[in-house]
Amino acid sequence: MTYRELLLEAAHSFSSSETPFLDAVLLLASSLGLPKEKILAMLPDRADHVPQSFYDMVGRRRRGESIAHIRGFREFFGREFLVDDSVLSPRQDTEALVEAALESGDAQVAASGAGEKSGQLSVLDMCTGTGAVAISIAAERPQWRVTASDVSSAALKIAAQNARRLLQSSQVHFIESDLFSGIEGRFDLIAANPPYVSHAQAERLVDDGWKDPLLALDGGADGMKFIRAIILEGSKFLSQNGVLLLEMDPLQIPEALILFEKEGFCDIRTWKDLGGRTRVAGAHHG
Ligand code: GLN
Repeated sequence: MTYRELLLEAAHSFSSSETPFLDAVLLLASSLGLPKEKILAMLPDRADHVPQSFYDMVGRRRRGESIAHIRGFREFFGREFLVDDSVLSPRQDTEALVEAALESGDAQVAASGAGEKSGQLSVLDMCTGTGAVAISIAAERPQWRVTASDVSSAALKIAAQNARRLLQSSQVHFIESDLFSGIEGRFDLIAANPPYVSHAQAERLVDDGWKDPLLALDGGADGMKFIRAIILEGSKFLSQNGVLLLEMDPLQIPEALILFEKEGFCDIRTWKDLGGRTRVAGAHHG
């Protein structure tokens, strides 16, 4: 049997995956400790040395566990983040939130002129989970002061590990906080990917084998509980002309835009994810 046949056989059993062959390649790469490009080059070779760990991982994937949780890390914005069952594994959709944060922050720095802030923006990433958003921003803009918060101490532990692995120094400051309850001061930029799935849907996803914790998905009856709370309270934690950016389900965008307007925000706009769906809404505190 060749590696190609081995992987096709495994892929065939991943009926619920949209990328079954790639999944199988990634699992073999991880069990052999090789990069995925090496595996692709080996496809025509005889599969003589297949570790038991590969078959174990294939079994877990077949039962619906995500590739990220099986391998223990997930790629996001060009970096690898550790994940476990205590955090939401970062999705590609959320890269739109990082793009929006970099763009909005750069615009603020440019508008404030060279002297005043000298590129020193203060940023808060709420509901940080693995730290993916905060760490990506800090890595891309090392001169910005980045704080990250989460209600879950288990998530903050993973986020701190990710920061140690991926950043030069302790560039991100972590705070345990239920939304704004433990947050002090004002920020030039607040970004958040809060739980935004409706309670019923979140329970269904977890029952279906999603390994993300319910806490990281469940946004209350209509999924809008945290988005609403962050827009209502956000102004108190934003500096003059500061920007609030929120990731949400594309169907939640219209309600969020109305809330921003009601709360007196201005320059309200949206960003699309890689799939072309409107995924992030943001506005300036007037
Ligand atoms: N992005 C996840 C989804 O597609 C939801 C994550 C969240 O609630 N923040 O369902």
